[in-house]
Amino acid sequence: MNLHEYQGKSILSRYGASVATGYPADTAEQAVEAAKTIQDETGSKFFVVKAQIHAGGRGKGGGVKLAKSLDEVRDLSKQILGMNLVTRQTGKEGKLVRKVLIQQDVYYDGPSEVQEFYVGILLNRQTGRNMIMYSPRGGVDIEAVAEETPEQIFYEEIDPSVGFQGYQGRKVAYNLGLNGKAFKEMVKFVAALYKAYEGADAKLFEINPVIKASDDRIYAVDCKVSIDDNAMFRHPDIVEMRDVHEEDPIELEASKYDLSYVKMDGNVGCMVNGAGLAMATMDIIKLSGGEPANFLDVGGTADAKRVEEAFRIILKDENVEAILINIFGGIVRCDRVAQGVVDAYKNIGKIDQPVIVRLQGTNAEEGKKIIDESGLKVHSAIRLEDAATLVGKVL
Ligand code: GDP
Ligand code: MN
Repeated sequence: MNLHEYQGKSILSRYGASVATGYPADTAEQAVEAAKTIQDETGSKFFVVKAQIHAGGRGKGGGVKLAKSLDEVRDLSKQILGMNLVTRQTGKEGKLVRKVLIQQDVYYDGPSEVQEFYVGILLNRQTGRNMIMYSPRGGVDIEAVAEETPEQIFYEEIDPSVGFQGYQGRKVAYNLGLNGKAFKEMVKFVAALYKAYEGADAKLFEINPVIKASDDRIYAVDCKVSIDDNAMFRHPDIVEMRDVHEEDPIELEASKYDLSYVKMDGNVGCMVNGAGLAMATMDIIKLSGGEPANFLDVGGTADAKRVEEAFRIILKDENVEAILINIFGGIVRCDRVAQGVVDAYKNIGKIDQPVIVRLQGTNAEEGKKIIDESGLKVHSAIRLEDAATLVGKVL
């Protein structure tokens, strides 16, 4: 699950990292109140108004603006709230901004007095270890830095048997070119960031930029966090942070019925039990000339109700031209699934797309019989190859 910048920062400051002071706001009036509070707490006269969406590149897309007075906070918040923000990460359809973060301006003596760094912690899947990735050239052009000058990106892995070590924080601060007070603050910052990453069961905790301000203080200016979904049960406070507006509506609907569904761009909807079989099914769809429209795992206990919900979810995708149901009957019996398909088909009413059902395993023959005798526009197969050929034929 991804978090908004302001939520990630609240976690970060709980672990003692130095974060630019800021408060979220849903309206321009709340934004002005937030700015007043920030003024009282920090003495800041300038503020940044930042669109809160689950996508980066907001600065370049016009979603991060500097306000030099409370009136400008009001005006810019009015402008950004409700805007459809298009960034290089949103796709061309953009994202609706429902919330802004009002934050103290930490570039107080002008951007030229500030150094911007990139510091992120993530899991290195190759080595199975957590890794600090950092660069002295952070900021809005980090992608270009990674592409053109990859030697400017540094990596520091954490050995799980000893955990994060003090020297590693010092190495990061050294490679970022810091000294004196800024060096010490960065060492503390990296340690706190690592604690936050571990404590929140994050799989990504990315700060771009972390800055060295004109007075040598270190601040997290931005914050991108992704939490491991399998650890959510340990974090009821983070579960509260879920913003359903940021999720794909069909995927959200699917999660209500415990279906793992991921939408893709193809034309063949798939309904499968088991993730491995789902992957194999997607491969075979490609081989037969189609493109999978989704990954959908109905799970090991696919009953009629779930089959029906899965059907409804697949049909919400307008690109679907055919549906392939591929179920392996183990504990779940194929005749039950077949009956589920027939019932779902009747309950939903009109399904224009051809449906191919491949049932294999316990009671496969009985299942096929139920489908064949139903009189519905459903094709049945027992061998996966035959099912794939049928998909190729109906497209
Ligand atoms: P992103 O574009 O979505 O990554 O959003 P960021 O939070 O990283 O902000 C984008 C850019 O806005 C930063 O790289 C800074 O250049 C600028 N910015 C962010 N905070 C401040 C601030 O407090 N003052 C000023 N003057 N600029 C800021
Ligand atoms: Mn950023």
